[in-house]
Amino acid sequence: MDHPDTFHHLIYELITAEHRSDAAREFAHYGGASDLVFFVLDREVGALITALGFPPTMPDASGWAKFVEDTAKSGSEAGALTYPLPGQTIHCLGRSTTRDAVVVFIGGEPRVDFIAQVIDVMPILRVLFQAEQAVLNANATTALARNATRQLRSQAASLEQARRMANSELIERHKAEEALRVNAAELERSNRDLQQFAGIVSHDLQEPLRMVSSYLGLIEMRYAPLLDDKAQEYIGLAISGSQRMSQLIKALLGYAQVGADERTMVPVPLEAVLIEAQGNLEARIVDTNASIQCTDLPSVKGDHVLLVQLFQNLLVNAIKFSRKGTAPVIRVTAVDQGSTWLISVADNGIGILPSDHSRIFGVFQRLHSRDAYEGCGIGLATCKRIMGRHGGHIAVASEVGVGSTFTLSFPKSGSW
Ligand code: ADP
Repeated sequence: MDHPDTFHHLIYELITAEHRSDAAREFAHYGGASDLVFFVLDREVGALITALGFPPTMPDASGWAKFVEDTAKSGSEAGALTYPLPGQTIHCLGRSTTRDAVVVFIGGEPRVDFIAQVIDVMPILRVLFQAEQAVLNANATTALARNATRQLRSQAASLEQARRMANSELIERHKAEEALRVNAAELERSNRDLQQFAGIVSHDLQEPLRMVSSYLGLIEMRYAPLLDDKAQEYIGLAISGSQRMSQLIKALLGYAQVGADERTMVPVPLEAVLIEAQGNLEARIVDTNASIQCTDLPSVKGDHVLLVQLFQNLLVNAIKFSRKGTAPVIRVTAVDQGSTWLISVADNGIGILPSDHSRIFGVFQRLHSRDAYEGCGIGLATCKRIMGRHGGHIAVASEVGVGSTFTLSFPKSGSW
């Protein structure tokens, strides 16, 4: 060694890592090459990597990796490699110092004695570089862990937010359920009120009404000869008024009673229901020459008495609201819709304007004067209530002058 002080000074420069890149270049020049790169085997990564602070040497990474790997294997390697710019090649000499470190001299053949000295001190440098590498790796691991913790924390925060949202949704749902329960209780209470009202109407109103009509009848019978035509006409009007009032009370009672009592819902064959309803209306059917046709009808889960009332109301209307000079033709059909039965009652009557479709299901809602068509305006409201009791609903489709179709949808299974 010609200049042992210089050599040791340069080695020291390499160790201190400060300006290591410049020191490596100077150090290589001193030995006869133009530059120097030092690789160590990173035990965690399992690959030869550039020692920290040396100049970058990997424009063609795969070429360099192969060169270094071959050097590590054979102990020595020489060849041309890309450096420092892609496309620019330079002569390289690789020396393996131990099994886990390689020195590469770039540009020129370093002196043999210089190589020997470098290889001599390399084990110390290797330990140093590996220690630096270990600190770097540890820092990277810490950063990774910190990052992961941060991510976990933010995930935990999102989870907490989702949990809070789910909680408040649950509270909302409970509130809604509570409101439903209150509504149901309210409905039951109003049903009971209606029931009570119906009872009062039937006993307390029917009785005096009966008295009024029977005394009117007595006056008519006994005093007719003493009365003039006007008085007789007035009595006749009073009698028909009280009869009408009696009809109204009966209709209201029927409406109220739909919600009354616990009804046991059982499978009811609709064909039998229709036959019974037709039987109750036999006189009207004969009088009006009405024809009622029906296809196969299913059984639905329901209350027989209410269902007869339902069909009877619809048939009465279909007959009543027929077109002048046209005999009523009524078709009752059923369509299986999977989870529901759709039953239609279609007529060829006067029809209903679309703007009146929803109105007609209200209590006392009528579209015509009593002179034109008799009735109380409770029939369809009762039908709607009956369908509600069966967990279904009623709707109408109609064309004025052509006819109307009332559809009843019965759920096949339900909780009513
Ligand atoms: P009501 O028949 O006693 O008048 P409803 O509640 O049964 O009372 O019917 C309400 C109104 O709906 C009727 O007054 C009538 O104007 C109309 N309506 C009901 N059914 C029919 C129908 N099949 N064709 C035409 N109009 C109808």
